[in-house]
Amino acid sequence: MSTRREFLQCAALLGVTASLPMNFVLGQENATKSVNPLFTVPNGNILNPKRTPRNITIPNVGNFRVLKGDFHIHTLFSDGYVMPKDRVHEAVENGLDVIAITDHIEYRPFFGGKSTQLKERNDDHNIAYDVAKPEAEKMNLILIRGTEITKSTMPPGHFNAVFLKDVNPVAEAVNDWKKMLEAAANQGAFVFWNHPGWVAPKSGGLEKGVPMSFTAEHDDVRRKGFLHGIEVFNGTSYYPVVSDWCNEMDLGLITTSDIHVSEWNMYGSQNPFRPITLILAEDRTEEAIREAFFARRTIGWAAGMILGRAQWVEQLFNACVGITKNNGSLQLTNRSDIPCQIQIGNNIHELKPQSELVLTVDTALKKLTVANWLIGTAKPLEIAIG
Ligand SMILES: [Zn+2]
Ligand SMILES: [Zn+2]
Repeated sequence: MSTRREFLQCAALLGVTASLPMNFVLGQENATKSVNPLFTVPNGNILNPKRTPRNITIPNVGNFRVLKGDFHIHTLFSDGYVMPKDRVHEAVENGLDVIAITDHIEYRPFFGGKSTQLKERNDDHNIAYDVAKPEAEKMNLILIRGTEITKSTMPPGHFNAVFLKDVNPVAEAVNDWKKMLEAAANQGAFVFWNHPGWVAPKSGGLEKGVPMSFTAEHDDVRRKGFLHGIEVFNGTSYYPVVSDWCNEMDLGLITTSDIHVSEWNMYGSQNPFRPITLILAEDRTEEAIREAFFARRTIGWAAGMILGRAQWVEQLFNACVGITKNNGSLQLTNRSDIPCQIQIGNNIHELKPQSELVLTVDTALKKLTVANWLIGTAKPLEIAIG
């Protein structure tokens, strides 16, 4: 049984350890001198060890590299909970090549008030990009300047403009959403419609039960050349009909996280189901990525699905999966980290990342279906077999 005196002594020791000077945790000399010699300080690093970035393997598609990106990310500079530099670190840890930070123009609760007038606020909508840019350069991440145009009615809803040169001229046109899109397009930005099926009547989204539709208002800006793509997947929401809209109207498909909280709180660490936009780019540069966006060479990868235009999805599959047919035996080799569900008749076989699958098939088999790779609404990719 310890005495009261021993107890007090112990408490005093704890007090000492609780107030260790900062230079101790940084491993500098002499720092332990103030610690009572009876107390042994455990050896170890108080800082997290460096995590290994996720390595996502996807073979080249012809002359194109397949880059991985997220083009819808929020920070503390609108209604996100994370600083811009931390978004850079999260992206690198997730194996991404490129991100756009796209803070809301109209909604910046942490700045106080809702006014967006630059003169009134002495406000600069480029801050998040400017703060994150040096860190991105240091970590070899491509950072794209972007913003979210945020209207509280549907239509029009929300839009992201990416590859901007300066966000402020877009913000200056805040009272007219079409002028905002025009200001973005005039800078050469790629503009896409965000979460078109977003149900949130109090914040400007759809009423519950109201189906999403490509309205005359959206068609107007598309025809004027101010709208170039649509999100087919946002956060955890999938909008299947967008695939058909993009095919019919020659728009680019984008899948994004629209992340507000930390990556850890939203998806955990290096989650393979996390939304990513794949970009078939001639080079790993901002200009090559922009060129690929306008050429519609983007493919969504989210929640284990591939979502894109038939031409590029088929070429991506052929780059990733080798197929050999020998009489009644079909051998499939997946050289990528993208999972494939191979459907033959009514059976689905999992072709996991970086793995092989050997199936016994009818010698007359002429095609197979890739059930989780979609080239239209409820339209899976079909691959002919020689
Ligand atoms: Zn939004
Ligand atoms: Zn957003």
